[in-house]
Amino acid sequence: MAIDKDCIFCKIVRGEIPSFKVLEDDRTFAFMDINPINPGHALIVPKHHAPNIFETPDDWLAVSMVTARRVARGVEAALKPHGMNIVQANGPGAAQSVFHLHIHVVPRAKDDGIKMNWGIRPGKMDEIKAIAEKIKAALPA
Ligand code: AMP
Ligand code: ZN
Repeated sequence: MAIDKDCIFCKIVRGEIPSFKVLEDDRTFAFMDINPINPGHALIVPKHHAPNIFETPDDWLAVSMVTARRVARGVEAALKPHGMNIVQANGPGAAQSVFHLHIHVVPRAKDDGIKMNWGIRPGKMDEIKAIAEKIKAALPA
């Protein structure tokens, strides 16, 4: 299990800085985001330090998503939101600000105005097809 002693989420996992913990098991840790988009906004992290989804080993990623769903079920039961977005950022272009993989559980209200919904804007089928082919050709084994 990798740890980065300077990483804020590793410090939270190790109890070196405080958090509002909602769940912990042997491989994952869940706590409240202190800058919540909506009430109930929670974060789930693996105890293994890796900066993003690409560098997180499969098994750590899998257990993190299962914990995220468990937290989401708790949020659903406790807060009864209209819906929930479960999201994860990679890289500054995606507004990632903490470089230890984490999954956001974001309770949503229908008219909360949060800009995560991009609406339906029809694409150009030839462009979509060409990009799909490019991605398929670039897929790792
Ligand atoms: P991201 O922008 O996807 O990297 O998300 C990082 C999240 O971590 C942000 O929503 C922050 O509000 C949250 N965050 C940063 N520091 C802490 C902390 N000490 N405790 C709880 N949440 C934090
Ligand atoms: Zn870390």
